[in-house]
Amino acid sequence: MAADAVLAADGAKNEAQDEPMPLVAAARGSRRRSGQPSVVTTWTPPSTPDLSMWHRLGMRRMRTIMAPAPGMLDAYESVISFVGTRMSASASSARPTSLFREREGVWPNTLVLAWTGAGWLASFGLMAATGWALPAMGVLLCVHTMILAAYLIHEAAHYTLFSSPRINRWAGEAMSFIAGASYASFDRIRHLHIRHHRDRADVTCFDFKGLMQRRPAVRRLLQALEWAYIPATEILMHLQVVWRPFFVPAQRRHLPRSAAMLVLRLSLLGLLAAWSVKALALYALAYVLLLHVLNFFDAFHHTFDQFFVAEDEPVPMDGRDRVYEQAHTYSNLVSHRFPVLNLLTLNFGYHNAHHERAAVPWWRLPALHRELYGERALNVMPLAELLRTWHRNRVKRVVADHYGAPETGARRADAFVGAHGVSFLTVV
Ligand SMILES: [Zn+2]
Ligand SMILES: [Zn+2]
Repeated sequence: MAADAVLAADGAKNEAQDEPMPLVAAARGSRRRSGQPSVVTTWTPPSTPDLSMWHRLGMRRMRTIMAPAPGMLDAYESVISFVGTRMSASASSARPTSLFREREGVWPNTLVLAWTGAGWLASFGLMAATGWALPAMGVLLCVHTMILAAYLIHEAAHYTLFSSPRINRWAGEAMSFIAGASYASFDRIRHLHIRHHRDRADVTCFDFKGLMQRRPAVRRLLQALEWAYIPATEILMHLQVVWRPFFVPAQRRHLPRSAAMLVLRLSLLGLLAAWSVKALALYALAYVLLLHVLNFFDAFHHTFDQFFVAEDEPVPMDGRDRVYEQAHTYSNLVSHRFPVLNLLTLNFGYHNAHHERAAVPWWRLPALHRELYGERALNVMPLAELLRTWHRNRVKRVVADHYGAPETGARRADAFVGAHGVSFLTVV
């Protein structure tokens, strides 16, 4: 099987699409499940990008803004020129090195991979320290490096890190171990995530909502725990990756991997406990915080339809085209004003730009977002509004059969209930 060809096509999917992007009114909200009237907006998704045009417009504006700072303008122009000449080409047209997919990605990727690996290991030393200041720093460092690891798995899934699919896979497996998601193979995680892009839907293999319908006690327990800010639904989704290969015949082929990883990780946790019970307890706390952060960003990226199907079972497309994809995608930035803060989540919040050009690496996404949407990015959801709805709808979100219908303007996120069970780490 020409796996590389398939995988390269996965990564460069959107570049290859020449489907027109008409300037039409787009409907928001989860159509299939909500049964409520869709909110029609006048939001116009970007037309098939003529990036030379975007580049010219962007440079004209930036020349005005940055007139007093020619050095910054030069830096901006060199980045935009580089991006602009490549956006309409396939990913393979970027200049690779023998190891990295792009020469310009050598330093960003080396630094973030080194920080993630070294920082995660160092965090255990800090968490085992005496007192409270160093252990508190250790918890934050552990959470942050696990967040980066999770989003580096996503980068590896799109083959944006290294030239070779095989090395992307190795990196993905290593990051998956750090993120605690290694009970499923990187290939399974990647397969379902590519389906998320291709099907323009949230495709989940474990029907946790069906489980809650069959077992009301489970639903009540999850709701009570979520009310108390314990991320029980996400814990359930992680645990099902471990247990289903043991109990579900169709999952039996994944058992060796799942069982071996369970033995390895339990052994390491045992060693950690023998060394420092405090470090073990704080690692558990860090993992709970990680699940909160990942769910917060996953919950509000889309108002897609959610399908519970087997990993290769097709879902009906129902006319979901690129217009639908952009209209039902939201960018959850840590900060719109200070883009550097989005590095905390490896720019994962630039989700409209990511869905528009899935092969663009994390470190190019802020520039791509500016190019595609400029200041008219209506699908950017302010962090403060999302935090409010995340808090208010935390119990409702457990059983809601639709993600809600975001509005426009102030308090636009109030009706955005959000989703559980859509993390690329646990949809397998
Ligand atoms: Zn997405
Ligand atoms: Zn993706």
